[in-house]
Amino acid sequence: MQEGAEPLALMADACTSCGECVRPCSFLRQQGPPAQIAQRGIERKNLLSAYGCSLCGLCDALCPEGLSPSAMFLAMRQKAAAQGLVELRPYRSWLNYEKLGSHPLFQRDSIPVGCRTVFFPGCSLSGSRPDAVRGLYRLLQQHDPAVGLVLDCCGKISHDLGLVDRFEGIFSRLAQRLHARGIVRVLTTCPGCSKVFRNHAKAFEVTSVYELLTQAGRAVPQQGTDAGGLPAVSIHDPCPSRFDAAQQQAVRQLAVSCGYRVEELPDSRRYTRCCGQGGMVEGCVPGVVKKEAALIGAEAAGRPLLSSCGACCETLGRVTSTAHIADLLTGTGTFSTKPVSSRMRWINRLKLAFLRLS
Ligand code: SF4
Ligand code: SF4
Repeated sequence: MQEGAEPLALMADACTSCGECVRPCSFLRQQGPPAQIAQRGIERKNLLSAYGCSLCGLCDALCPEGLSPSAMFLAMRQKAAAQGLVELRPYRSWLNYEKLGSHPLFQRDSIPVGCRTVFFPGCSLSGSRPDAVRGLYRLLQQHDPAVGLVLDCCGKISHDLGLVDRFEGIFSRLAQRLHARGIVRVLTTCPGCSKVFRNHAKAFEVTSVYELLTQAGRAVPQQGTDAGGLPAVSIHDPCPSRFDAAQQQAVRQLAVSCGYRVEELPDSRRYTRCCGQGGMVEGCVPGVVKKEAALIGAEAAGRPLLSSCGACCETLGRVTSTAHIADLLTGTGTFSTKPVSSRMRWINRLKLAFLRLS
């Protein structure tokens, strides 16, 4: 099969149906190996099944042939959307969230003279943890007084729903704005934002805040305490950070520096599970978030969870006590099962956009 061939034909040709990716994935257990889905897609032009895949990439990590089923499922979504086959009503709440979040009311560019690096905390952390955003910004300013702050949405919802034009409209406006201000480096907290910037704006250097703080010496373990006596925590690696070993390691080092002992989940790092929010699958498979979150909660076996994604924290907080690493780093929060209401998220984002940050 030649390079550049249609993703479905490529998968139908190259996937051996070995089943490695099928075992841990409820979507593939129901639909069959990627080769079968690709073949059905080719024969029956059935593209909509891809909306049952969370795009989590676990199959990519497991495939011995080096294939990327998740890329095929995203391509199927894009094709279905381009052909007008997708009923967007079930995804309206996500799309409205993104649309409102991209409104100038919730945007803020705080870019001082000489600024080449900006902190981009993303929608989720800004809505759920505005004090942590302020705290992280202050920490970053200690290392680079000219660091800027940009509050905006990266468009990942449209991206994952396969709405290419809509995504490009949101993201290219943001990227062009940053280019125009001379920005060359973007510091992220959300692994989803990191992935979007890395895949769609290669001119920027993208680094997680966690790596930067670790490199800057923030991840120094607390002295004088026997590690065995420290409280245990498990790290949930968000699926967009699956192949980002540097970010995963930095979060662990920071957790230790905050006085915790890390006990790994059976499925972590490269093999982490999606919390259930990925790909907005809940729009067509109601109950998937609850089911997937419960699997991770069971793996935690009563230990509190720590994550670097606001959306994962919101989901996993329903099954066990969960904190964002930013809560601990900035001292603005701790492990909790209490969700932040939708109304409060918007108020938090408005306050962040309008009030002084330091
Ligand atoms: S990306 Fe995740 S949900 Fe989709 S097929 Fe692969 S493992 Fe399953
Ligand atoms: S692991 Fe790879 S080869 Fe095996 S079924 Fe999945 S996609 Fe096909």
